[in-house]
Amino acid sequence: MTQEHAPSLYAAQADPTLAFPRLEADERADVVIVGGGYTGLSAALHLAERGVDVVLLEAGRIGCGASGRNGGQLHSGQRRDQGWLEAKFGRERAHALWDMAQEAKALVLDLIRKHGIDAKFRPGLIEPVHKARLAGKAKADVQRLREEYRYGEIEWMEREALAAAISTDVYHGAKRDRGAGHLDPLAFAQGLARAAAKAGARLHEESAVTALAENGQPRAITGRGVVSADVVILAGDAELSGIEKRVEARVMPIKNYIVTTEPIGAGRPGGIIPGGEAVSDSRFVVHYWRPSADARLVFGGGETYTRKDPADIRGLVRRHLLATYPALAEARLDYAWGGSVGITWHRLPLVRRLRPGVYTAGGYSGQGVALAPYAGMLLAEAIAGDTGRFDRFAALPAPPFPGGKLLRPAALIAGMTWYALRDRI
Ligand SMILES: Cc1cc2nc3c(=O)[nH]c(=O)nc-3n(C[C@H](O)[C@H](O)[C@H](O)COP(=O)(O)OP(=O)(O)OC[C@H]3O[C@@H](n4cnc5c(N)ncnc54)[C@H](O)[C@@H]3O)c2cc1C
Repeated sequence: MTQEHAPSLYAAQADPTLAFPRLEADERADVVIVGGGYTGLSAALHLAERGVDVVLLEAGRIGCGASGRNGGQLHSGQRRDQGWLEAKFGRERAHALWDMAQEAKALVLDLIRKHGIDAKFRPGLIEPVHKARLAGKAKADVQRLREEYRYGEIEWMEREALAAAISTDVYHGAKRDRGAGHLDPLAFAQGLARAAAKAGARLHEESAVTALAENGQPRAITGRGVVSADVVILAGDAELSGIEKRVEARVMPIKNYIVTTEPIGAGRPGGIIPGGEAVSDSRFVVHYWRPSADARLVFGGGETYTRKDPADIRGLVRRHLLATYPALAEARLDYAWGGSVGITWHRLPLVRRLRPGVYTAGGYSGQGVALAPYAGMLLAEAIAGDTGRFDRFAALPAPPFPGGKLLRPAALIAGMTWYALRDRI
């Protein structure tokens, strides 16, 4: 279980004074939330704003999980493209899922604005294809979004324009999405925490829930105190372990890694990515990067499928970084860290009422910067009795991963290694 912030650029630049007390005694609330990432914080904020009495319990520090250590990329849509969604669910549901993802992006920007969060948001996301044979489908995706979904913020970039925009010619064209963007993920999580506390939610750090008791009324048990409530929200995503088998069978942690260069003028005129956009490529094991506010390159790439981190994270990610930017061979890498991405079998979020009084959301499969705050808001809506949008997400299929918890890692490693291999052929 994550306890501390990752040794990241974000943690180095975060507000060191933001702290919440440990749970030291028994408390009573309408709703108890397990997990202080975007899902839990957004649920706490939206419930508190409705006048609901909320306690949030975080095992480590607020935002110490994926929410405070991710790539900061705010994507459009679901993790699956609209063609996949239409084939699986039909046009009407696919359109509804697109509309909800648009609401999710808008919610992030609204929260930043409304609560004055210094999340350093910058618009623009470029999605290059790493194989020429993928360009046809990517162009068709752009056309579909522009014509059928009336999403005019996306366009196709030919190779030459792309090379100028991202300062490398190794890609074969790209989708340019002006309606997406990037931000400082930990600053966003901390801002949500401040807003939730201001709205009246009681937040506790270093208060790991070790068990959930449910005889009559849910009780979240920590080492030093117990919170009794009418409703519990399990918002631990990839980190939730030993609390709820149904979630663990469906949300699997995959380790993903990021490095940050020294300031190199990235995102500034004349530097790498002069327009300041984020970039996220078409690999199965995605390479993603963006300029930070202080002109570093934040570059993510490389995964492992066991809980243990590799000894040399810098070396692992540097290999991928240099494949795109060989000129950075001498650049100092000031920060290197990893985190667990919660994925589901279909790469669609797991949003559920597991049984009366027990809700969960997670498994955003690499799309949680937009989807997790939104899912947190939908949980708040559903608990307050308005289940319309919640039901749409809750109807998405989320089968358990094959192999059960014990055999799953071996099956996962085999499957993922195969797909990772396909990135190279
Ligand atoms: C390296 C990396 C890069 C990523 N890049 C992107 C990106 O660029 N764009 C994007 O959209 N998504 C990205 N993601 C995914 C995104 O970060 C997540 O989908 C999102 O943050 C999930 O938010 P959450 O609140 O559900 O979970 P988390 O942020 O993981 O929060 C869960 C919290 O629950 C706590 N917890 C767990 N169990 C307990 C317990 N028993 N008691 C108390 N607390 C508990 C954990 O400590 C943790 O803080 C990335 C993830 C990683 C790891």
